Amino acid sequence: MKVLKHIMAASVFVISTTFLAGASETAKEPEKGGAADAHSVDHSPSHSEPSSMKPGRKEKSGTKKPTAEFAHDIMPIDTEEKVKRIIGNSRHTPPKKKPVSHKKAPAPVVAVHTPESAHGSAPIDAEEAVKRLLDGNRRYITGTNSAAHRSAQRRTEVAKGQHPFAVIVGCSDSRVPPEILFDQGMGDLFVVRSAGNVIDDIAVGSIEYAVEHLGVQLIMVLGHERCGAVDATLKGGAVGGKLKSVIEAIKPAVEKAKAKNQVTHGCDLLCSSVKSNARMVAEKLKKSSPVLTDPIENGILRVVGAYYELESGVVSLTYKPVL
Ligand SMILES: [Zn+2]
Repeated sequence: MKVLKHIMAASVFVISTTFLAGASETAKEPEKGGAADAHSVDHSPSHSEPSSMKPGRKEKSGTKKPTAEFAHDIMPIDTEEKVKRIIGNSRHTPPKKKPVSHKKAPAPVVAVHTPESAHGSAPIDAEEAVKRLLDGNRRYITGTNSAAHRSAQRRTEVAKGQHPFAVIVGCSDSRVPPEILFDQGMGDLFVVRSAGNVIDDIAVGSIEYAVEHLGVQLIMVLGHERCGAVDATLKGGAVGGKLKSVIEAIKPAVEKAKAKNQVTHGCDLLCSSVKSNARMVAEKLKKSSPVLTDPIENGILRVVGAYYELESGVVSLTYKPVL
């Protein structure tokens, strides 16, 4: 129970995390910054969807089975009830057993979804999730925010159960709030934030929860323009306290950016370091745990990297591995 409480706390509060272990990085470096990035899937405000999101999918969405510990038939009732009290119902709530034939079936104990629910109980695949994020970013850029999911009605709706469609691993920077720059509301995004959008075991565990128990099929690692944590790593110098752990986690990505030296007019060394860091974290996530690796290999879960421009507000994909 303590583990689950920690996990749920992670979905509500910003997580300050560090990630000490290095990660191998296999993706190519982008050549340009921001919306002009040659590796971006969509740099224009229209954010049309990449066609290459589909290839490699071996399994349709919605086929993911509930994990054993959440299955009704093997979990003691008292433990199951405790879990429900803590985490509420998830989309992976297994079906109730068949009722006795001569009696009316009892109402299933599952989350209720109104027609205005973000996506009901059906899982949202990675392709659709990317589209929703970039469409939302376009609304944010153009000042046509929907604010549809920030009402009292929405609050009541998500109180019955959460069904976020994407995990955002973002920086704690106050200028990069995911729900705002993607024009999303309550219950839409499962957010993990830390300085420099680095991850540690607690962050990975939080993401595992979103993938395994909430059915999220997209993880976006979101770096941003003029990231202070990456800039501090780039400049070097003495750093005290636990901040040193953040710097150490970012350092391999900065060193890789320096070695590739892909500085262009639109993307200086800091910019390329931020993108390198997002890719490194994405690659690390892919190898961090079987809970994430298995659905990635099965084509269910995707991990992408993105870059946010502070002034223009544009988010562009900078890392999208083809499985
Ligand atoms: Zn930052």
